[in-house]
Amino acid sequence: MPNFWIQPALRLGGIALLGLVVGLVWDLTAGLGVVAAGLLVLVVVQLVYLQRLQRWLDDPEAAVVPEGWGAWNSVFSTLYRARRRDEASRKGLTSALERFRQAAGALPDGVVLLDAGFHIEWCNSAAEAHFGIELARDQGLLFTHIARHPVLADYLALDVGAMPVTMRPTQNQAQILSLQVIPFGAADRLLLSRDVTAIERAETIRRDFVANVSHELRTPLTVLTGFLELIADDIPREPAVARRQNQLMKEHAERMARLVEDLLTLSRLESDSVIAPSTRVDVPALLDHLGVDAESLAAGRHRFRWDVDPHLAVTGSEQELRSVFSNLVSNAIRYTPAGGDISVTWRLQKGQAEFAVKDSGIGIAPEHIPRLTERFYRVDTGRSRETGGTGLGLAIVKHVLVRHQAKLEIDSEPGQGSTFRAVFPSRRVRHLDTAAADTDPAASTG
Ligand code: ADP
Repeated sequence: MPNFWIQPALRLGGIALLGLVVGLVWDLTAGLGVVAAGLLVLVVVQLVYLQRLQRWLDDPEAAVVPEGWGAWNSVFSTLYRARRRDEASRKGLTSALERFRQAAGALPDGVVLLDAGFHIEWCNSAAEAHFGIELARDQGLLFTHIARHPVLADYLALDVGAMPVTMRPTQNQAQILSLQVIPFGAADRLLLSRDVTAIERAETIRRDFVANVSHELRTPLTVLTGFLELIADDIPREPAVARRQNQLMKEHAERMARLVEDLLTLSRLESDSVIAPSTRVDVPALLDHLGVDAESLAAGRHRFRWDVDPHLAVTGSEQELRSVFSNLVSNAIRYTPAGGDISVTWRLQKGQAEFAVKDSGIGIAPEHIPRLTERFYRVDTGRSRETGGTGLGLAIVKHVLVRHQAKLEIDSEPGQGSTFRAVFPSRRVRHLDTAAADTDPAASTG
């Protein structure tokens, strides 16, 4: 600040000195005239800069900061710096706001900002889809007029801090949304919407599953307790009747054991990693053993054909693969009447390993095929139970194949027979004669 006075003082001193010199050389009037003219020039210069400043202040965006002279130089450069700082902080704020909007816009959950009167202030694109609103068109409008749904109006009218509710949007009845309203600011509200369709579906599947398991256990338990009561009451039984009843009890106990076994297998599969191990499994040896078991299960009622590539192996879990192959073969036996043909193939097809079981059995109508791998889904429950089925076999097969990145393909025609194919990806294929590594690093992640 002291510097401020040096230049004006020098300029005024210069004018006074010039006036003095002129006054001494000529006369006093000429001296005063020079001083007055000097002061006038100074005033005019100040006025010119003042006017430039005024013009810039009127429209700082359009005009550049003026160049200055003397003290104006420092005024203008201070203003210029202040303006740059201001611009930078405004840019920072604008970009922070934009990023915040982008982040809120990218949220998978819907967000609607409502004012105290429930008018839409802002919403993200998920909310637009959930409530059928369009921010550009509906901003400022009453939310409950735009997103018409009885649940919405009732829920928003409740006291703030209410528990979340669920609703099915009018424009998409298949969807289930969970809503929660959160108060903020003076009397504003944040309405959050989350798509819980998958969670609700999983919950329905779980409930159905528990109901199915209970239902499956009820019949054998009723049979067992009924016969056990007879025994407990010492009711005399003919030896032939007693033998028959004991046999029935054994069959029902075995059925429960099979069911529990399959349930445990499923639960083990669910709790294991989603990717099967990458250990090489000697499938031809495995199928050798399976062939013996299958033919003894069929007890000569079916003609078998085995066509197994002795060099073809895959990586995975031996125990799980055994369960897939034996489930498919035992289904072919159980759903093929006596005298039918069953052919089992294990071969390389276009670089993929294919396990196929073809039977000449009862076949399956096309509408059932997409649902066969659902737990407890059976085309004919009576037949499945009679032959010792739990209704979980293909669910286990599907689960194991997913863990091996393999596909299940089903071709079937009622009355003609079915072909079930498990197709393993080429990266799981191994050749038994080569010194191929037992592990496949690509499949060992996860
Ligand atoms: P299940 O224990 O009832 O056999 P699965 O899950 O193994 O249960 O099979 C589901 C249903 O698929 C069976 O109940 C049956 O209706 C049908 N199915 C499976 N394999 C065959 C097949 N080879 N031929 C005809 N139907 C089959």
